[in-house]
Amino acid sequence: QAKSRGRGRFEFFDVALRERMQRRLRMEQDLRDAVHSGQLWPAYQPVVDLRTGEMVGVEALLRWTHPKHGAISPAEFIPLAEESELINVLGKYVLRDTTRELAALRTGRGLDLSLKVNLSVRQLDDPHLVPAVRDALATTGLPPGSLTLEVTESALMRDTSAAAEVLSALRSLGVLLAIDDFGTGYSSLAQLRRLTLDTLKIDRSFITGIAESRDAAAIVTSIIAMAHAVDLTVVAEGVETAEELALLRELGCDQAQGYHLGRPLAAAELFQ
Ligand code: C2E
Ligand code: MG
Ligand code: MG
Ligand code: MG
Repeated sequence: QAKSRGRGRFEFFDVALRERMQRRLRMEQDLRDAVHSGQLWPAYQPVVDLRTGEMVGVEALLRWTHPKHGAISPAEFIPLAEESELINVLGKYVLRDTTRELAALRTGRGLDLSLKVNLSVRQLDDPHLVPAVRDALATTGLPPGSLTLEVTESALMRDTSAAAEVLSALRSLGVLLAIDDFGTGYSSLAQLRRLTLDTLKIDRSFITGIAESRDAAAIVTSIIAMAHAVDLTVVAEGVETAEELALLRELGCDQAQGYHLGRPLAAAELFQ
């Protein structure tokens, strides 16, 4: 009896696996089409300066409104895109669209905002990345110093020498660089220094609970001290409460993002 139950369970997993794989394949084809049919659009989340309380920038976060399935999270479709060259197509679209939108807001509304764009690890291997960034800046007139490219800590640590070369080519265009999701990888102070970054973003998992836990607050305190020691601007991700915000300000954190300060919204909603 146990045996037949076990076998039934195995078949169940088999069917589930096949369905997952089919869904994946369909999604990948849908995503290819989405790029060309306006289903992808950037949401913008405010980045707030903790000394002045003012919005100083926005992070572009890609959204996919699927015609049948509705909103699909980037946590789902970015990894899918990263499995092929599709990520480079998406990445170029995001760069072009967001620099254009931000440049228009800066000149049209006189908003002195900087733009943060996420880069995937695979884009660092794309020989067209640096020219694409240069083109986006030249076409839109967005000042290079108003663009920060965010790369996750794990992507940066994958292969420091190759990544360092692309990053320095990007830097020579005048754009700024941020290490994203800091704390989830294993980078050392020496590696951080060698990469000549501008900004360090503390991962949300370290921010959640800082107002309740002295240990959690101590870790964030030491990340801020370390980052400031190598002249990095520190941004806290995922600030969800007024208590967290007050504590981060007290600890000398430079900037913050989070639902408490503003959710990611379409440009037309954020800048009504
Ligand atoms: P990320 O760059 O670390 O972005 C922060 C994520 O945290 C975003 O999720 C944002 O919506 C979410 N978030 C912001 N504040 C809060 C908060 O207070 N609480 C909680 N619970 N979450 C908060 P999202 O938009 O789902 O994006 C997930 C990830 O997908 C991003 O993480 C980034 O790695 C990737 N991604 C998004 N857009 C792009 C893109 O255009 N290109 C690439 N390569 N990756 C992207
Ligand atoms: Mg980011
Ligand atoms: Mg992050
Ligand atoms: Mg992240």
